[in-house]
Amino acid sequence: MNISPKARHFDVVIIGAGASGLMCAAVAGARGRRVLVLDHANKVGKKILMSGGGRCNFTNRHVGPDNYLCHNPHFVKSALSRYTPADFIALVERHRIAYHERSHGQLFCDHSAKDILRMLLDECRAGGVRIETRSPVSDLRIGEPHQLFCPQGPVSCESLVIATGGCSIPTLGATDFGMALARSLGMTVHPPRPALVPLTLSGRTLERVRDLSGIALEARVTVADHSFRENLLFTHRGLSGPAVLQASSYWEPGLPVEIDLLPELDLAAHLQRLRRERPKMALKTWLGQHLTRRVAQRWCECWVEDKPLEQLTTGDMDAVEAACKRWTVWPSGTEGYRTAEVTVGGVDTEALSSKTMACRDQPGLYFIGEVMDVTGHLGGYNFQWAWSSGHAAGQCV
Ligand SMILES: Cc1cc2nc3c(=O)[nH]c(=O)nc-3n(C[C@H](O)[C@H](O)[C@H](O)COP(=O)(O)OP(=O)(O)OC[C@H]3O[C@@H](n4cnc5c(N)ncnc54)[C@H](O)[C@@H]3O)c2cc1C
Repeated sequence: MNISPKARHFDVVIIGAGASGLMCAAVAGARGRRVLVLDHANKVGKKILMSGGGRCNFTNRHVGPDNYLCHNPHFVKSALSRYTPADFIALVERHRIAYHERSHGQLFCDHSAKDILRMLLDECRAGGVRIETRSPVSDLRIGEPHQLFCPQGPVSCESLVIATGGCSIPTLGATDFGMALARSLGMTVHPPRPALVPLTLSGRTLERVRDLSGIALEARVTVADHSFRENLLFTHRGLSGPAVLQASSYWEPGLPVEIDLLPELDLAAHLQRLRRERPKMALKTWLGQHLTRRVAQRWCECWVEDKPLEQLTTGDMDAVEAACKRWTVWPSGTEGYRTAEVTVGGVDTEALSSKTMACRDQPGLYFIGEVMDVTGHLGGYNFQWAWSSGHAAGQCV
C-alpha cells in the first residue's frame, strides 16, 4: 500500500475500543497526543457492558502478580504497581460512580456497567480522542510511520496500539486479529484457549450428575496444583460456578480435576467422633447435611454404601474420603469461546517492555490488554490488567 498524500495522520492509532484501548486513548489524549481509536464492531466497550452481570466487576482490592497466568510471572508487576486498583477507584470516585464491595475484594458498580463505559468515553472526549466504530482495518503496514487503511480512508501514525482483546465470545466482536498480526511479525504467540469457562463432562460421569443441574455447593477445586475454594455448580453438561471457572484457566485436555466437596472438614476425625456421638445415624443423612439431600442420595447410589455410621469399616471410610474429599473427574472439554470470559495465552510478553507494553523489535508498536499472554483470575483482575497495561502504554505512545 502506498500511503496517499490525503492520508489522515495521527500521533496514535489504537485498534480496539474495549477496556484497555479506551483507557490508553484517554491517557494519551490527556497528554495532548492526537489519538484515533478504530473498532470493527458497531458499538464500543461491549464486554464492559456485559461484565459482572451488567454491574461490571471493575477491579479488585487485592490485586497482585499471583492473580495472573503468564509465562513470565514477573511481567505484570511494573504496570500493576504504577496504575493500581486505588488509582482506578479514584477515577471512578471522581466521576461520582457509586460502587460496592463483594466477597474477596471484588468491586462492582451499584447501578450499571454503563457508568464505567460512560466514564471512559468522557475521559476520551476530554482528551480530544476520535473514535470510529464499524471500522475494520485492512492493509496494515508496520513501519515508520505505520500505515493502515480503514473504511474512512488511509491513515498513518507514529504509534500503533493493538488492543483487540482475546478470542472469547465472538458474538461480542472478539477476533484473533492481534495474535495473527504478532505471528505475521515473527513474534511468539502462546496458543490461545478458552478460560474462566464451564467444564463439560461426558459418558457415565455426566449421566450420574446431569440431573443435579442447578445445585451449588462450596468446594475446593484443584487442577495442576492450583486450588480454588468457592462455589461449584452442577450444570446439565458438566460443572461450573466460580471454583470451576477459576480452575478451568489451568485445565488442559487430559488433565484430571480433583474436587473436595467437604473443604471445611477433616473428614476422618469428624467421622470418628460422629460414630461415637451418633452411631445410629445413616451415612446418607449425615452427607445430606453437608452436600444437600439430592447430592448425598446420588453419592450413596454411585460411590459409597449407605449404612449406619457405627457400621462403617475402614474401607468404607476410605471410600467416603475418596468420593467426597477427592472426587476426581476427567472433563471432556470446555464450553468454549462461546461462553468463556477470557482467553489464556496470547502474545508472548518477552517481546514487550513491561513498563510501556512496546515491542522491543518493532518501533512504535504496542500490545495491551487481553491480547497479551496475561490472564487474570475471576474477580475484577482482568479489567485491572486492561486499565494498568492501557495506562502504561498511554503514558508513552
Ligand atoms: C461476559 C463477560 C463478562 C466479563 N466480566 C468481567 C468482570 O466483571 N471483571 C473483569 O475483570 N473482567 C471481566 N471480563 C473480562 C474482560 O471483559 C476482558 O478481560 C477485558 O474486556 C479485556 O479488555 P481488552 O481491551 O483487552 O479487550 P476487549 O475489552 O475485549 O476489547 C477489544 C475490542 O477490540 C475490538 N476488536 C476485536 N477485533 C478487532 C478487529 N479485527 N478490528 C477492530 N477492532 C477489533 C472488539 O470489538 C473490542 O471492542 C468479562 C468478559 C466477558 C466476556
